[in-house]
Amino acid sequence: MTGDVVACRVKAVDMASPDVRIVRLEAEHGPLFDWRAGQYASFRICEMEPRDYSIANAPGGGELELHIRRSGAGGVSDFICNDLKAGDPVDVQGAFGGAYFRTRHEGPLLAIAGGTGLAPMKAIVEAALASGLKQDVHLYFGVKDESEIYLERHFIELTHRHPNFRFVTVISDPKENSGRRSGFVSDAVAADFQLLYGFQCYIAGPPAMVEASVHMLGLKSVPRHDIFADAFYTEAQMQAKGEPRPDWG
Ligand SMILES: Cc1cc2nc3c(=O)[nH]c(=O)nc-3n(C[C@H](O)[C@H](O)[C@H](O)COP(=O)(O)OP(=O)(O)OC[C@H]3O[C@@H](n4cnc5c(N)ncnc54)[C@H](O)[C@@H]3O)c2cc1C
Repeated sequence: MTGDVVACRVKAVDMASPDVRIVRLEAEHGPLFDWRAGQYASFRICEMEPRDYSIANAPGGGELELHIRRSGAGGVSDFICNDLKAGDPVDVQGAFGGAYFRTRHEGPLLAIAGGTGLAPMKAIVEAALASGLKQDVHLYFGVKDESEIYLERHFIELTHRHPNFRFVTVISDPKENSGRRSGFVSDAVAADFQLLYGFQCYIAGPPAMVEASVHMLGLKSVPRHDIFADAFYTEAQMQAKGEPRPDWG
């Protein structure tokens, strides 16, 4: 795994929900590396161990947007959510990953996000809508409870500007009756579509949710080559799988 390393600075850290921060980075000098909507990069933040995070904005615009969820276990994500601030240095290596937006598809597009899996799905949906495609674009956002919802207003506003865009929030363990869908996000998709043949499907989030969604899409007749998925494995899970880390030199 290789990729350009770019020295960046934190532009802003915003609280999107109690446990999710939206972090914006810009290169200290010169341009960022090239990336495609849906890819991820490796981030070395304040000399801590590198971690992979998905890029939440489509290419262009000169900044990287990340959505970071606090794990609560004292690792890098906790540092980002508790201590990272504007002006801090971050080295970024990228871009990686094969689950990026394919522009040459003529059928509808389905994106399924679990938690901060919303980050790469946001980049893909925004790139797709900005490209002016006319086919339907569906985004399902699965969270555990209401406290995990973020950027909902942003996506509802996008549905007003793009009649071909549909956005659904699905809560697996609701704490109140908010009128939103409840259950597992993969079950909500399965209930809404009898068949998904001809769709191009993108998925990101916790490994169990990604596996359940890939399985469901197979049952709905989506061929494997039309499914593009990134499971957010932790460092320990990646090492257990034998996945290589980028060489930071
Ligand atoms: C391709 C890819 C893209 C990713 N994109 C994102 C992204 O956009 N946003 C994002 O927030 N994360 C993303 N991740 C996950 C991220 O790389 C880290 O694994 C995560 O932030 C945890 O790192 P940490 O250093 O805080 O915890 P670690 O030090 O790695 O883990 C500490 C302990 O916490 C546990 N743990 C870690 N995460 C969680 C969790 N979510 N819930 C419960 N327990 C946990 C671990 O099992 C371990 O026991 C991505 C991972 C991959 C592989």
